[in-house]
Amino acid sequence: MNVVIGDFCHYAVHRRLGNEMLPDLLRRADNFPPDGGDDGFNQASIPITPVSPPSGLATGSFNSLHLESKFLAVISSRLLIIAALLSGASLCCAGDVQNINHARPFEPAIKPAFLALAPGAVEPGGWLRDWAQSARDGITGHLDEWHPTFADGWKGIPVNSRGANPDGTGWPIEQSAYWLDGALRLGFVLHDEALIRKVRARLDPIVDGVNKADFGASFIYWKKDFKPKGFDSWAHSQMGRALVALYQGTSDKRVLDALSKVYSDYPANMGTITMGGDGVSGLCNLDAMLETYSYGGDRRILDRVLRAIAQPEVDNEIQGWPSGRLSPGHVVVFYENMRLPAIVYPWSGDLHHLQATAGAFQWLEQQHMLPYGVASGEEFASGIGAFRKTETCNVTAMLLAASWMYRIEGGRDWGDRMERAFFNAGAAPVARDFQTMCYYQSPNRLDSKALPCEQPYSPGAGGIRFDRLGCPAVLCCVGAVNRIIPNYVMHMWMATRDNGLAATLYGPSTVSALVGQGVPVRVVASTDYPFGETIRMDVTPEKETAFPLYLRVPGWCKQPRITINGKMATAVPDDKGFVIIERTWKKGDEVKLFFPMNPLVVRGFETEFPSANRKYFNFEPNSLFQSRRLPYASVLYGPLLFSLPIPDVDANTPEKDVRWKFALDTDARKDDGSITVTRRSMPARWDWPLNAPIRLHAPAKAFDWQPTDAQALPEQPVKDGAPETLSLVPYGCTKFRISMFPVTARAWRDPSK
Ligand SMILES: [Zn+2]
Repeated sequence: MNVVIGDFCHYAVHRRLGNEMLPDLLRRADNFPPDGGDDGFNQASIPITPVSPPSGLATGSFNSLHLESKFLAVISSRLLIIAALLSGASLCCAGDVQNINHARPFEPAIKPAFLALAPGAVEPGGWLRDWAQSARDGITGHLDEWHPTFADGWKGIPVNSRGANPDGTGWPIEQSAYWLDGALRLGFVLHDEALIRKVRARLDPIVDGVNKADFGASFIYWKKDFKPKGFDSWAHSQMGRALVALYQGTSDKRVLDALSKVYSDYPANMGTITMGGDGVSGLCNLDAMLETYSYGGDRRILDRVLRAIAQPEVDNEIQGWPSGRLSPGHVVVFYENMRLPAIVYPWSGDLHHLQATAGAFQWLEQQHMLPYGVASGEEFASGIGAFRKTETCNVTAMLLAASWMYRIEGGRDWGDRMERAFFNAGAAPVARDFQTMCYYQSPNRLDSKALPCEQPYSPGAGGIRFDRLGCPAVLCCVGAVNRIIPNYVMHMWMATRDNGLAATLYGPSTVSALVGQGVPVRVVASTDYPFGETIRMDVTPEKETAFPLYLRVPGWCKQPRITINGKMATAVPDDKGFVIIERTWKKGDEVKLFFPMNPLVVRGFETEFPSANRKYFNFEPNSLFQSRRLPYASVLYGPLLFSLPIPDVDANTPEKDVRWKFALDTDARKDDGSITVTRRSMPARWDWPLNAPIRLHAPAKAFDWQPTDAQALPEQPVKDGAPETLSLVPYGCTKFRISMFPVTARAWRDPSK
């Protein structure tokens, strides 16, 4: 056995070429005190209150003079970098990629931490496969049979749907591109040929249409000489993403030809980034453009990307992000836009680009993060609160943005963020059979017609009800929901630049990839995670071969244990939060991970709606915008948010006379053992059952409480009440619930002090 343990921190840093370029800002060992001291550790890992240090990139020091001095140096060099790139000097090159498994033909000089695997390299197993199959058998596999937007979008014909233009553009090409992309990726990860065929029947005509065009076309190929701008360019970016996945999954050269043809001639002016409104941006094509360049190498594409990000108005906008100069606009737009500078960073070499995205993440987490791991957005950012809502498109967009940061920067926090969002916010807005979904979810939900209020400004009535089409009036979310599962699965494993493999997100899965000197390996991760704490990995290389296996240790896990073929290995993570096992692997090797979970009570304040959005929210009622600090507490266990379930008759009907008026009453200072855990075996088939395989039992006090939509929580900690024990289940298993609880005076502690 060759388990390199004691020395690998040092070793790993040097092997991760990209990391040497990263600033101290992005090294977060300081943010995770190794002693695991109770609240200090926990607070650092929980980015959901406006006052506690958020996890991830920029705790505390973000506004320090130290950082500003770094910035000055960075900014003074960045114009030179951009100018050099545009004049033909190259930070990017074909380079020596032939010995790096899963490298693209054209790699940036600044190497992202991880190399993404093609869709299909990772397959879901166990409970996750059950859920993915429900998606296939439900909305994802059948949406085109349910509405003209999905039946006719991207066919170049008029679509009988709201927001459609007579020329075949408009809302349907945005909404159906979401679905086509999600359905294709789900087909790949499940290796479901029928689903892949169904989507290809829609995408192949686009590929052929582009390739047959006389000269530079767009994916909206049926409009001759058409150069998309505004909304059409944004919708176009979603199709670009789908076609990138199609190329990655099939290696069909026709697809790459079409992508290269379109993006080498795409308008250099793709618009700007506006974070304070709802203006979608054509710059969202940048990820598909860079992916296309990395495979095809048409230099004109890279030039367009670099010119687009260097536009003065874009540059001026993103410069303010690290210092929090951001406005709370439409959150889908926010998540989509905030990732763009970081995606360009490996190619631009401009460190500020990476810092900009990191700053935007931090700002959003401080101002608008809800306990299930995704920001509020109704559709505009709406602060922190128990009835605040999150548009399902935001779950998709958050996972997408975080996956890019994970791939580029490589820190485990991104994995923690993605798991929190996926296991909680990813599950709640979908019915257990994946036949219906809802546009909005909220931490607390009491009734399907009121609380939270049925009608925010947009999209109108029906926003919180489950329906085949989500909110039938606006079909973005029922399109976007299909991307959640496959994008998570695709990022569960990634390749490393030292020809190893990294377990980046957990859950039951099988990965097939190349390691070492191009040796195929298969790793099967068998686990009930996150409903269990143990993960068994069976490693099967085609032949004995040496390679490093990177294992992410979740930030919340204080005492990880790892065994290899039954022998204990020292599980000390490196500065990115990974344990790296370096050895010669052979068939039959078995790695076991044990990530013990502890109940974690997080405390925070419900805040007012952001005043910047008063106009959007019709200026009323006034009380929504008046400063408020209403205490709440939530319970986490590993990546799972727990909630008091209000049993449902169906997804729109709660059972009557269920008691839910309680204040959480656990010790504020430490894990006092007052929350206990019970488990039962996993169900034969997973469908997010209310009768969950894991329950937490938490002390509470019953008290009278009359929440309103304008004020969801009591003003002050609760002083009196009869003691009770609540039985909590994973948030994702509920359709009606309390997950942001009032808190007793005994259990309250101001997290800002
Ligand atoms: Zn939506």
